Amino acid sequence: MRTAMYPGSFDPVTNGHLDIINRSARLFDDLVIGVLTNNSKTPLFSAKERVNMLAEVTKDLSNVRIMTFEGLTVDFACRVGASVMVRGLRAITDFDYELQIAQTNHKLNDGIETIFLTTGLEFAYLSSSTIKEVASYGADISKFVPKIAVDELHRKYNNKGECNHEQPY
Ligand code: ADP
Repeated sequence: MRTAMYPGSFDPVTNGHLDIINRSARLFDDLVIGVLTNNSKTPLFSAKERVNMLAEVTKDLSNVRIMTFEGLTVDFACRVGASVMVRGLRAITDFDYELQIAQTNHKLNDGIETIFLTTGLEFAYLSSSTIKEVASYGADISKFVPKIAVDELHRKYNNKGECNHEQPY
């Protein structure tokens, strides 16, 4: 059985992440989504909230599990028995960073390979940070994130996601 691990912050999960999850779940027997809890960014959502959103959007995928982790990603991959780490590549701007991480991880543990799935074009521009900013102003974000994340973002920002473009003049 081949286990893969898809690590990230998922703060919150977007339709772009979901695309990578769906495709990876078809490629591997077992997919562990690793929710990073100790990265330098301060997340908007707690680890529990991020896990709950991921659990909801993957509930129909029987070979997907959600787990949190801290520490080195390769160590977590090792612990869950994953020989592959999946990352998504949106654009050339992701490449430098992802290459460095993949090469470092390979030096740390050469038993674990990183594979990259290129993003579906319709999701290439999506990032959790942009969505959070847009959501904070109350815009409709239903095209970008799954329904549960739409609701959770509006709850966090205490708005309804109804665009209200006031004319300045
Ligand atoms: P990180 O904080 O590690 O960048 P993210 O949750 O932002 O975590 O991303 C996790 C993974 O998902 C990364 O490989 C990232 O490139 C990928 N990813 C992020 N946004 C998208 C998207 N819109 N389409 C496909 N992959 C994406």
